[in-house]
Amino acid sequence: MVLERIKFLRDELNKYSYNYYVLDNPLISDFEYDKLYKELEELEKQNPLFITPDSPTQRVGGISTGFQEVTHKYRLYSLDNTYNYEELRRWYERITKEFGNNVELVCELKIDGLAIALAYKNGSFVHGATRGNGIVGEEITQNLRTIKAIPLKLFEDADVEVRGEIYMPKSSFEKLNEENLKLGEKPFANPRNAAAGSLRQLDSSITAKRDLSMFTYTPIIERAKKQPKTHWDGIQYVKELGFKINPNIRLVKDIEGAVDFCKEWETKRFELDYATDGVVIKVNSLAYQNELGYTSRAPKWATAFKFPPEEISTTLKDIEIGIGKTGAVTPVAVLEPVNLAGSIVSRASLHNFDEIRRLDVRIGDRVLIKKAAEIIPKVIKVCDSAEHDNLPIYQVQGNCPSCGEPISEVEGEVNLYCLNPNCPAVLRAKLEYWVSKEAMDIESVGPSVIEKLYNLGLVAAPVDFYKLTIDDFLKLDLVKEKSATNMYNAIQASKQKPLSKFITALSIRNVGKETAELLVNEFPSLEDFKAASIERLAEIDGIGDKIARNIYEFFHNEHNLQTLEEFKNLGFDFSYTPAQKTDELAGKTFVLTGTLQSMTRDEASDIIKSKGGKTSSSVSKKTSYVVAGENPGSKLDKAQDLGVIILNEEEFKNLAGIE
Ligand SMILES: [Zn+2]
Repeated sequence: MVLERIKFLRDELNKYSYNYYVLDNPLISDFEYDKLYKELEELEKQNPLFITPDSPTQRVGGISTGFQEVTHKYRLYSLDNTYNYEELRRWYERITKEFGNNVELVCELKIDGLAIALAYKNGSFVHGATRGNGIVGEEITQNLRTIKAIPLKLFEDADVEVRGEIYMPKSSFEKLNEENLKLGEKPFANPRNAAAGSLRQLDSSITAKRDLSMFTYTPIIERAKKQPKTHWDGIQYVKELGFKINPNIRLVKDIEGAVDFCKEWETKRFELDYATDGVVIKVNSLAYQNELGYTSRAPKWATAFKFPPEEISTTLKDIEIGIGKTGAVTPVAVLEPVNLAGSIVSRASLHNFDEIRRLDVRIGDRVLIKKAAEIIPKVIKVCDSAEHDNLPIYQVQGNCPSCGEPISEVEGEVNLYCLNPNCPAVLRAKLEYWVSKEAMDIESVGPSVIEKLYNLGLVAAPVDFYKLTIDDFLKLDLVKEKSATNMYNAIQASKQKPLSKFITALSIRNVGKETAELLVNEFPSLEDFKAASIERLAEIDGIGDKIARNIYEFFHNEHNLQTLEEFKNLGFDFSYTPAQKTDELAGKTFVLTGTLQSMTRDEASDIIKSKGGKTSSSVSKKTSYVVAGENPGSKLDKAQDLGVIILNEEEFKNLAGIE
């Protein structure tokens, strides 16, 4: 009776844990899980004889005195690798010489973690070890037991050995480092080091607390119901047995398919919540693999394509000063051009002058630049060098490079500003922003047209766009009747754009698209929030004191009020059409992550807003739904942690009532 209940609980908990940690698909809440777990723990305490090694209670860990060296049953080889597509093609040529064209390949992301080997006997996890030198590793079974993505019992009574990579998600790494800093401990340099440090703990209860996971990539099936003939089938089979497989794996017909896969992930990898440093390409047929065999250190049937490094050092040649649409002065690093993650980089962000001081960046320094999810790489540190001390400390220029007026500090702002309202750089940036996609979205009027209009003195401020005639456009060289008419019409048509777009386009300091939408949702017309007090504005969820002050000041500036009056006289009506609401989306907060197939994220966001919902960029308890497309990022994990409802694209479209 008790034994039956114990068995039942064990199987249930293993099933829930498998769904949560391997499939990323939680079936029950943490609370329900904990309840069942505690019941099992209690029953096992009363009946210690019934405890089995595959019980979920055995994942908590304990102290060991050291790690034993073990000789691997099957050697873990290294992989040959290359940064170069031509070498990949040559590798494939050697294979096709032997087996003819069209040798299928399997492409897998190369996870930047720790390689391990796991052994299962009669379906139970018996033994696990680090890679070591490939022949001898360290036995860390007890620590591996604590990692929930590692099954303690398989869904089949089989004897298998698998290799895989232990990794720590980037989001967990950041959290761990934050905690370490709070405790005054040294932060880990990268997720890989954090995973290694967590795995080689003599006290495995520490390992248990760290968020480690594992992707399985090499199955060796010794005895099982199936005996796969290809690597691809082997991977699908171990997935059936209960192992976690990286979903970004692809079977391709030839090397060009593999090259495409590598190119695709060179940039997409930054969206993942784990670090990858390349792609492993394997011959699919196990028979071919056997025939090809090994060199002294690596298989001939597999190779790794390494992504270009995400960080690289180069020389800082100059610091240029850019002036933004709000007058914000931003320093930009001008670099000796260098190949970073597949593209030539000659400029990088330095954020602001505080950052320059903090890093002590000096012109002439060797600097380390990094490409992350952002499009523009950033300078992350100065490399140690003897020259650094001899270089002059960077001094902020006192005057705006565009208009020559002094650069000023603004209370409460990190940035420095050119506060001259007639600064040519600021005016130009404002004009360019006005027509941009995020603002009024006037596609036919591009930067070069704006430059010409500005130089001819036809346009100095956005309001001037609406005073232009077709004849004015014809004054620009190379502009013919047809495009002049197009530009004129596009500008006139923009008067009908939603009020939120107009507010965004005004370039009020710290007021972007999201804030503009919050404003128009709260106030029915421009007149209303022109009259609102700072306190009233700050009451709006998502608008703090600082932004409220910026908005208030903007609408109490005589010059701005005059301009708004001009817009009105030119035919803007500033009326706000309340969103058409449906019960399903109204008042709900959505977070979008990953790539959607039938629409862009911006389009999905517009649908949500048109139906009275809101979108947010981060997941919190207040999030109603997370819409997850392909390759979702850490937002999906966070949603799962918080128990937020997750919709796929189809479900979202159903909810929104669209085809
Ligand atoms: Zn200026």
